[in-house]
Amino acid sequence: KLLAEVIPPGEVGIGFGDIGALDNVKSTLREVVMLPLKRPELFMRGQLTKPTKGVLLFGPPGTGKTMLAKAVASESGANFISVGPSSLGSKWFGEAEKYVKALFTLAHKIAPCVIFVDEVDSLLGRRDKSGEHEAMRKMKTEFMAAWDGLRTNQYDRVLVLAATNRPGDLDEAVVRRMPRRLMVDLPDAANRAKILKVILKEEQLAPGFNAEEVASLTDGYSGSDLKNLCIAAAYRPIRDFLAAENAAGPSDLEVSTPAAAPAAADLSG
Ligand code: ATP
Repeated sequence: KLLAEVIPPGEVGIGFGDIGALDNVKSTLREVVMLPLKRPELFMRGQLTKPTKGVLLFGPPGTGKTMLAKAVASESGANFISVGPSSLGSKWFGEAEKYVKALFTLAHKIAPCVIFVDEVDSLLGRRDKSGEHEAMRKMKTEFMAAWDGLRTNQYDRVLVLAATNRPGDLDEAVVRRMPRRLMVDLPDAANRAKILKVILKEEQLAPGFNAEEVASLTDGYSGSDLKNLCIAAAYRPIRDFLAAENAAGPSDLEVSTPAAAPAAADLSG
């Protein structure tokens, strides 16, 4: 069994073009992560440009942190190893040393490689948290030691990219290992419009559909909320069609809106 999911660059299926807004985060990622992965020789001239070995993406849920991490790997031609709380369970428990070493050894073998740690607060949260299991503590120590090992060879094209909704829960020693911390915040109206356009780029839209208008009605929505809203709206014509068909005669087919979709706005114009 694999301890984490490994995705080759050609199979990630997400590029920066699929991510709306977040222009500043994307450009910083290009400079501090992607370029050093692709052209490490450019960064060998001095101490100040040594490639970073840790980048933290933090911000509210559903704002595109996972998408960004995947896009970084695919656009820089790097392999992507995803380590999440789900790969932590029994496989890691009690065998921390072995698995963490295997993870970093694998990353080196398949370099260039991005090790993505989703919900990093669950994996590398504060050590003083009450009730912390001894095995968990050992795993953290191992992880940090292996991470420090990355710094001995600055140009080996392996780095840790981590994401969290709760940066305040992170161990300080972990935060120190991620000198670049990028906030991935909820979008404002202009950015919601950009995200809507990306989500809807291959859809048939009602005449007169206006992304800016929907953006102005969705204050507080994350990219993920906007996606769910669009899914809910996309079901509307199907529902209308079935209703018309039902009116014409009985039918046993029913379509319902996905449970997760917020129902605040109507995209059908
Ligand atoms: P979490 O913190 O809950 O893990 P996250 O920040 O990692 O969330 P993602 O998993 O990257 O968020 O985003 C969830 C989904 O929301 C994506 O699969 C995508 O469909 C949509 N989404 C979020 N942000 C954007 C965006 N900026 N552009 C386009 N789609 C987006």
